[in-house]
Amino acid sequence: GAGNADAAGSRILVFVRLRPMSRKEKEAGSRSCVKIVNKKDVYLTEFASETDYLRLKRVRGRHFCFDASFPDTTTQAEVYSTTTSDLVEGVLQGRNGTVFCYGATGAGKTYTMLGTMENPGVMVLAIKDLFSKVRQRSHDGSHSIQLSYLEVYNETVRDLLSPGRPLLLREDKQGTLAAGLTHYRAYSTDEVMKLLQQGNKNRTTEPTRVNETSSRSHAILQVIVEYRSVDGGSIVTRVGKLSLIDLAGSERAVATDQRTQRSIEGANINRSLLALSSCINALVEGKKHIPYRNSKLTQLLKDSLGGSCNTAMIANISPSNISFGETQNTLHWADRAKEI
Ligand code: ADP
Ligand code: MG
Repeated sequence: GAGNADAAGSRILVFVRLRPMSRKEKEAGSRSCVKIVNKKDVYLTEFASETDYLRLKRVRGRHFCFDASFPDTTTQAEVYSTTTSDLVEGVLQGRNGTVFCYGATGAGKTYTMLGTMENPGVMVLAIKDLFSKVRQRSHDGSHSIQLSYLEVYNETVRDLLSPGRPLLLREDKQGTLAAGLTHYRAYSTDEVMKLLQQGNKNRTTEPTRVNETSSRSHAILQVIVEYRSVDGGSIVTRVGKLSLIDLAGSERAVATDQRTQRSIEGANINRSLLALSSCINALVEGKKHIPYRNSKLTQLLKDSLGGSCNTAMIANISPSNISFGETQNTLHWADRAKEI
């Protein structure tokens, strides 16, 4: 709970979003194993097949509770306003904010973060909200909004807005910078949606599945809001950074987590996802040393995790009993993150 919260009141808010059953899952005869009650409680049910495999018997249930849990009817706008709008307000006050989507491949991370033209997700709604808030405040100072969109794939950082050679990370007093990364000055929401859609197309694809985004790719949108005003002759400036992250699929990390370090490396596991888990564990345990340096993702998020930063985690899950194991792992992970 909030027990470990520091003086600045920082903690991770943890949310769960259940997506609707897909046509494929329905056709496979799958059954829903997740129930969300009162927008908070998640009930997970394990089924085992009886003699006839189509007749599933309930064998075990588990209950989880999060800051909010979204049933499959929840709109993109509702997800945005519950998880991210307060963080956007914080960014305007100069406080960094971070939102992650965590979960197995196919659980709804990209839908939640990017969304579609008809149903834009958290990334687009956050920028839209920023534009309108900045417009309302234009009388008391000037704001500039810049965004960058990058990918971490196989411990290589790439610019999604201007694809090319891998970028090197550099430390400076403001945090970790990707050298040469495009910072795009944004003016309108429509333009941003197109930019992000295009950026998403630039994400690495598996060699065997040319049109599918690799499940091992992390996409990071960072929005930097700079505020300037003149107050009685002196200049006031404030900078806040919002990081919105569509994480790689969690399935491999979870499957290999219990093994030794050696076999993790042998399996070429997603180092950044493991490192993120380690940092979250260290924050949960209240450790002084947080191992940010273990991966590119955690290096990039050094100033955006823990400390005086606002963080929200959205755990995405599928309702189908076919994904029971992954859903259980995701809920356990989210339950752990809740303790920060
Ligand atoms: P991930 O990025 O976690 O691999 P996606 O976001 O690509 O998963 O989602 C998998 C599929 O499910 C996509 O076709 C997506 O459009 C659909 N989907 C995911 N979440 C929702 C939702 N809340 N409502 C409707 N469709 C969804
Ligand atoms: Mg995705």
